[in-house]
Amino acid sequence: MGVTGSQENNEKKPVVLIVGGGYAGIQCAKSLDETGLFFVVLIDRKSYFLHNVATLRATVEENFSQKILIPYDRLLTNGCVVKAEVTSISHDGVQVHGRNEPIHFDYLVIATGSSYAFPGKVAETEISNAISIYNTIREKVNASQKILIIGGGPVGIELAGEIATDFPGKEITLVHSQPTLLYPNVFKQKLYSSIQDQLEILNVKIILNDRIQLPSNQHTNYIEGKNTYVTQTSKTSVTADLTFVCTGAHVNNRSLLNGSLKSKLNAQTGRLIVNNYLQVDGFENIFAVGDISDKETKLAYLAAEQGTYLGKLIASLHKKKSNPKEYKVNPNAAILISIGRNGGAGQLPFGGITIGGFLMKQIKSKELFTSRYRSSMNYGSDTQSETKSPYLNKLDSVQSILSFSEEDARNLLAGLPTKELEPGQDFS
Ligand SMILES: Cc1cc2nc3c(=O)[nH]c(=O)nc-3n(C[C@H](O)[C@H](O)[C@H](O)COP(=O)(O)OP(=O)(O)OC[C@H]3O[C@@H](n4cnc5c(N)ncnc54)[C@H](O)[C@@H]3O)c2cc1C
Repeated sequence: MGVTGSQENNEKKPVVLIVGGGYAGIQCAKSLDETGLFFVVLIDRKSYFLHNVATLRATVEENFSQKILIPYDRLLTNGCVVKAEVTSISHDGVQVHGRNEPIHFDYLVIATGSSYAFPGKVAETEISNAISIYNTIREKVNASQKILIIGGGPVGIELAGEIATDFPGKEITLVHSQPTLLYPNVFKQKLYSSIQDQLEILNVKIILNDRIQLPSNQHTNYIEGKNTYVTQTSKTSVTADLTFVCTGAHVNNRSLLNGSLKSKLNAQTGRLIVNNYLQVDGFENIFAVGDISDKETKLAYLAAEQGTYLGKLIASLHKKKSNPKEYKVNPNAAILISIGRNGGAGQLPFGGITIGGFLMKQIKSKELFTSRYRSSMNYGSDTQSETKSPYLNKLDSVQSILSFSEEDARNLLAGLPTKELEPGQDFS
């Protein structure tokens, strides 16, 4: 082990560039910022952290989206968060949209995560726009009578649970391609039965072992208006006035495909190959964490654990400590599925113990870890009052440490424009 990195900042704090402020990126950034040893620059195309574990409740509860779209403005003290879209990531610099010169780093943390069809995740870059589209979908859910959810993995199940709990009169159909909900033969039978029973008690109609084929351009958003679909196997007809697509996440690797680290992507998964220190294969100062990394199950709490580990690792590498600890992969991840605000089922990592609705309500379903993540972002129950250019007091540091002109530093801290997305397009 040992770190090379750029030698340009001899007299200055080393630059840690973190691309992506999701669960992994924010933990890593906070942990390194607190040491005071580094100049941490977290880049995200959005101006806010999306607590997407809780997004589905925003489809049913008024004003809920405001709690889970949390500005980055209070996250860092010594470093800064900048709003910019990274277009290309290479071993010697990171390119952002709206600037010709690359940004250099001593350490690079790639935490670009994954995208999911709305409402699971949202691609809007400003909080006000994201709140507005969550308000719109909540109104559409409210106005619909027949709702179809395609995909019975965790997201489809949780969406069905939210709607069925808050709107018991609606006809909800959940279609899943597997013989059980979730993924078969992975969890205890009790977990599958508990989830299915709870949804059926809420009158959700579940069709298993069957598919609804959508035209390929309809995978990234919900589908409005009355549609009648016929399932592929049993030829069951399903009519819906609102259809949600919950068929899985897309890895955010577009910026990697444009740079010199492309060859470090696993050809099958599209994720970065990392070693036991979460270093990208072949590099001592470049790391990948969370959903963009090939290591471990893709879950928010594991992304956060990786981010925290990496913060400690980079600090110990910087102090030239010998024998840093390897990242310990959690062999059996916990799965906690909420079913509306009152129910749910889970399986814990220790001994595969399953838990039911009563405990799930206390642990997750009641408030979906919202206070915990607001507090991580240094927010309480107060509603957002996002500061414009909150890190402008870092103007001098950006100029001197990143070697930017005053104008360039000012522009970066004010936030660079992002590329336009097609209507309904996710970001991946
Ligand atoms: C609806 C839903 C519910 C879920 N529920 C749970 C749950 O209950 N428990 C659990 O453990 N997991 C859950 N997950 C999974 C979990 O959300 C992911 O594993 C987690 O988001 C991964 O975190 P991350 O930090 O790797 O990336 P993300 O959270 O995806 O964050 C990546 C960040 O990078 C930014 N970014 C990406 N590319 C660029 C670029 N080129 N330029 C600038 N910025 C960029 C994005 O804007 C984003 O902010 C859920 C997922 C969904 C969709």
